[in-house]
Amino acid sequence: MAGHAFRGEDFFSLDDLLSDEERAVRDAARAFVSDKIIPIVEKHHRNATFPTELIPQFGEMGFLGANLHGYDCAGVNNVAYGLIMQELERGDSGVRSYCSVKGGLVMYPIFSFGSEKQKDHWLPLLAKGQKTGCFGLSEPDHGSDPAGMETKAELKGDTWTLNGAKRWITNGTIADVAVVWARTKEGIRGFLVEKGMKGYSAPPIEGKFSLRASVTSELVFEDVKLPKDAVLPKADGLKAPLMCLTQARYGIAWGAVGSMMAVLDEAVHYTKSRVQFGKPIASFQLVQEKLVEMHTMLTHAQLTCLRMGRMKDENKLKPHHVSFGKRNNVRSAREVAKLGRELLGANGICDEYQVGRHMCNMESVYTYEGTHEIHTLVLGEHLTGIAAYK
Ligand SMILES: Cc1cc2nc3c(=O)[nH]c(=O)nc-3n(C[C@H](O)[C@H](O)[C@H](O)COP(=O)(O)OP(=O)(O)OC[C@H]3O[C@@H](n4cnc5c(N)ncnc54)[C@H](O)[C@@H]3O)c2cc1C
Repeated sequence: MAGHAFRGEDFFSLDDLLSDEERAVRDAARAFVSDKIIPIVEKHHRNATFPTELIPQFGEMGFLGANLHGYDCAGVNNVAYGLIMQELERGDSGVRSYCSVKGGLVMYPIFSFGSEKQKDHWLPLLAKGQKTGCFGLSEPDHGSDPAGMETKAELKGDTWTLNGAKRWITNGTIADVAVVWARTKEGIRGFLVEKGMKGYSAPPIEGKFSLRASVTSELVFEDVKLPKDAVLPKADGLKAPLMCLTQARYGIAWGAVGSMMAVLDEAVHYTKSRVQFGKPIASFQLVQEKLVEMHTMLTHAQLTCLRMGRMKDENKLKPHHVSFGKRNNVRSAREVAKLGRELLGANGICDEYQVGRHMCNMESVYTYEGTHEIHTLVLGEHLTGIAAYK
């Protein structure tokens, strides 16, 4: 691992635009990542394991559902929430994914669409890191087009019967509760399915070369019997899971900034100390061009995030703005990681350094929560008024 203190690039002094509280939240998250995540992440990435021992600490730090209010959530504003996601992804996309799935895709739907009983029971446990959740929307045969989902729930008397399968589900195997979206007679509804229910299993997906320090699973439902009140009463139709995705994608746009900060920091440090042809490679024009490209993409993404955060706090942020942020920032993070890997030469393919891990992780982040292409189509529809999905 590059043995130097991390310096977060801030070219346009965006720190000056943050409140004292936002800076304090960011600094606490940054210190947590340096102390607790960076030292162990290489091992977890190599072994394809998630650092479950950190989950209660995420709770203590207020990282879980941080922008929700009440129910033991931290209740910070959306800029501070974004800064937490940024810092966590500076550590690793898998760690940020754990927290953003939990906050945006598990706690947010329970908070927004759940009954008081569901909220009172689950939200404090999830916020404190005493329980873990996952979000099951994607299926083996339905990814970009979740409207085609085949998972079905049928109500007879006081019991729902759930059948079907979900795939690529973050946290699935370790989740105590799964928010599962299923087709019913009245349209798509959300259900809370608990670990250990008869007919429910969540085997892990093996062999990933990306997001290795994250649990990704299949969810299988074979005649799972759910009580009538397992349904999220206020979630009606596909709009509900799409609202959840908008929350999580907002955090991803910030997370991509963290990945770029990590990669740029490592690349600048490396190129200044690596000597070839009798000089540091940072003194070569072709190397500087790559660093400048990386820096420009990072700086654009930072500006986008801060504006998105302020708009979200003013309730002005629309799904197409979030598509812009997710699409632009993740594309940039993917490019930045690739350039960083080039600059480290052979060391760039080794997990002693971070750039290769970020590069592999970005392949998942580019694909999940709406692929790059799907966000292109969202923005195309915004510009033209014409939906071009099919
Ligand atoms: C590590 C990881 C974690 C994930 N976690 C979760 C999770 O927690 N919960 C969950 O529900 N899902 C999760 N997903 C699933 C993710 O959301 C899907 O992979 C994603 O929506 C894309 O679906 P797909 O992989 O089936 O690809 P497909 O939809 O089959 O797409 C394949 C390719 O075709 C392109 N394509 C599809 N339709 C169009 C179109 N109309 N126009 C142009 N191009 C198109 C896509 O952009 C893509 O390039 C995760 C995925 C990964 C990799």
